[in-house]
Amino acid sequence: MTILPANIGSFSEPVRKLWERMNPCTLCPRQCKVYRGRGETGFCGIGDMPLVSSVGPHFGEESVLVGSGGSGTIFFAGCNLGCVFCQNFDISHNRAGRKMAIELLAQAMLGLQDYGCSNINFVTPTHVAAAIAVAIELAREGGLKLPTVYNTGGYDSVETLKLLEGFVDIYMPDMKYADSKVSEELSAAPDYPEVNFAAVKEMHCQVGDLQVKDGLATRGLLIRHLVLPDNLAGSFEVIDFLAEQISPNTTINVMDQYRPCYKASSHPKINRRPTFEEIESIRQYVTQKGMNVLL
Ligand code: SF4
Repeated sequence: MTILPANIGSFSEPVRKLWERMNPCTLCPRQCKVYRGRGETGFCGIGDMPLVSSVGPHFGEESVLVGSGGSGTIFFAGCNLGCVFCQNFDISHNRAGRKMAIELLAQAMLGLQDYGCSNINFVTPTHVAAAIAVAIELAREGGLKLPTVYNTGGYDSVETLKLLEGFVDIYMPDMKYADSKVSEELSAAPDYPEVNFAAVKEMHCQVGDLQVKDGLATRGLLIRHLVLPDNLAGSFEVIDFLAEQISPNTTINVMDQYRPCYKASSHPKINRRPTFEEIESIRQYVTQKGMNVLL
């Protein structure tokens, strides 16, 4: 049985299909198959309406997203990953946020545009991708012109991404791991590497390499890779994959801010920050491969 909102028939086919993927839910690779329209929840803990933690201009994102007006971020509560070191665990795991009607989500996007933001940046969007697509369609009808940023943990299904084609201008996925044992232990997702590599391929097929105009990203793929201690993130394999199977012109932010948060202190392997040498060796490897390191 498919449960749809009364007026969903007036939306485009990809939007309708995305909405159907919530009942039963196969929006993300967890495939929980719960009926979110009936209030059932799966791993991400969210029904069919998004929980929004905050909306506003953000100046701490990558420089190509910020500009003079900031990146117009919309932070969603809940997450389809279970990272033991999550730096936003209040939002992701404790689900601190307010239910927001989709019409209000569209209005929030238009408000960020009116405020002068450089883009609309959906933070942790995967489990609410259907609601986001509906809201983008509404907001574009209402005059939204800004690029949209899909700022994801990178545990995304190719089928859902295919339906998002045209709704997303800039894909900004994490590439967290290359080893399934590590992704199982640290994020409760043993299939993360294969899922993530396939998702990044699909994202790049849709939008290509990152394009920047007047210092601001307009379209393309921007990879985030968080360096973990002792190369637990499989950094060299991730970089090889990008250079050889995505594009030698890939833009990557090698992030150095890992610190033990949330439950990380009880995991001896990740109970420290990576060293300067660990971070630099990975940045140098990216440069050797001819790819773009973003700061
Ligand atoms: S979006 Fe949530 S409910 Fe749906 S499959 Fe993923 S984790 Fe499960």
